[in-house]
Amino acid sequence: MTAPRTLREASCADDYDPNSMAVDQARALIRQFLIPVTATERVHVRFALNRVLAEDIVSPIAVPGHDNSAMDGWAVRFADLKSGEDTMLKKVGESFAGKPHGGAIGPDESVRIFTGGVMPAGADTVVMQERAQEVEGGVRVAAGAVTKEGQNRRFAGEDLKQGQTVFRTGQPVRPAELGMIASLGINEVRVYRKLRVAFFSTGDELKSIGTTLGEGEIYDSNRYTLYGMLTRLGCEMVDMGVVADVPDELERAFATAAANADVVITSGGVSVGEADYVKQLLDKLGEVLFWKIAMKPGRPLAYGRIGTAHFFGLPGNPVSVMVTFYQFVRDALLILQGQRDVMPVPMFKATLAAPIRKAPGRTEFQRGILTPDGAGGWQVRTTGDQGSGILSSMSQANCFIVLGTATGNVAAGEAVDVQLLEGLL
Ligand code: AMP
Ligand code: MG
Repeated sequence: MTAPRTLREASCADDYDPNSMAVDQARALIRQFLIPVTATERVHVRFALNRVLAEDIVSPIAVPGHDNSAMDGWAVRFADLKSGEDTMLKKVGESFAGKPHGGAIGPDESVRIFTGGVMPAGADTVVMQERAQEVEGGVRVAAGAVTKEGQNRRFAGEDLKQGQTVFRTGQPVRPAELGMIASLGINEVRVYRKLRVAFFSTGDELKSIGTTLGEGEIYDSNRYTLYGMLTRLGCEMVDMGVVADVPDELERAFATAAANADVVITSGGVSVGEADYVKQLLDKLGEVLFWKIAMKPGRPLAYGRIGTAHFFGLPGNPVSVMVTFYQFVRDALLILQGQRDVMPVPMFKATLAAPIRKAPGRTEFQRGILTPDGAGGWQVRTTGDQGSGILSSMSQANCFIVLGTATGNVAAGEAVDVQLLEGLL
């Protein structure tokens, strides 16, 4: 099967049912339309953190550049060491990290050496200092101090070889990559430009913080969770505030957002009743599909294009916003940022501490609290009330308990899938 070229084409597939989309199916469909940004910029390595490499990094040097010692001790020739008795060696010099001995050692000679010190020519092994005793003019190496040639010696190029491709285009830069790049002496790298994401909240009932609430009004929290999640992903943001459920205003907001960003994210307005006029609007401006995902929370979801921008229409309920963001938007944004081999959020098993009631037929993402079980494993329980408006459940949770479509009630003691939120939130 070849990938569909348009959303309309995708929505003609045999297994396509907008009123009951499986989570994986929606994710796979979205993935087919994600084309990463292409523009790049050169930045100092420090500013490459949380960005994505837009070039292969080839090592201009070997790391480490020389054979050196992994210990404080004595550089020796393994062949000189007697088996079964102590060995007396002559001391011919010292090698500190950054201050090599410079010379070579011959038979029955040794060099006092410190961690990171260059191995003198002729030496092949390091005796750790705890197994050696300095004596007048030399050192006494205890019998059996080393068991094999090359012990406690780090080899030139054992971390990276000269000319080796260290990172490929599409590699996200984390603290380890920053250190690796610095270890190569490279101070500037090419990264993809940041993804621009415009977002707004829709709803007549929403007020921005800093204003007073009238009857029936609530503060807009979704823009703040979105701001937080997008910041963690390293996106550039255009916060467009609250837009009332007024077709003209919504149309203007959609058009402005799409003209100014790579991705448009909204919350609210995709549930039954509200979706109809939003649908009409978006049909004018682009091509958008409205789905009822077989999941809880996060059932209504819209995905498509407005102009050249990707569009994610998330549900209005605060928990649904976060769940749908992590299940659909996060991976999409990572791909759009230029990351290759994007891994889904890791899932592993934990033991359920208290039973959960669930009806088969949809995937549930319950908010869970994962704790050590005292026996070397992990146990998980829910945060309690799983209403999609209970944002405090997301704050109490440190994981999602993921209950698959076919799963029904789950008893205490059974193993369930969990996805850690630490590092995401
Ligand atoms: P909707 O999807 O627009 O029907 O909204 C579903 C529920 O989420 C309603 O109770 C809304 O009041 C609430 N809601 C929608 N948007 C927000 C928001 N930005 N912040 C907090 N609650 C919201
Ligand atoms: Mg609404």
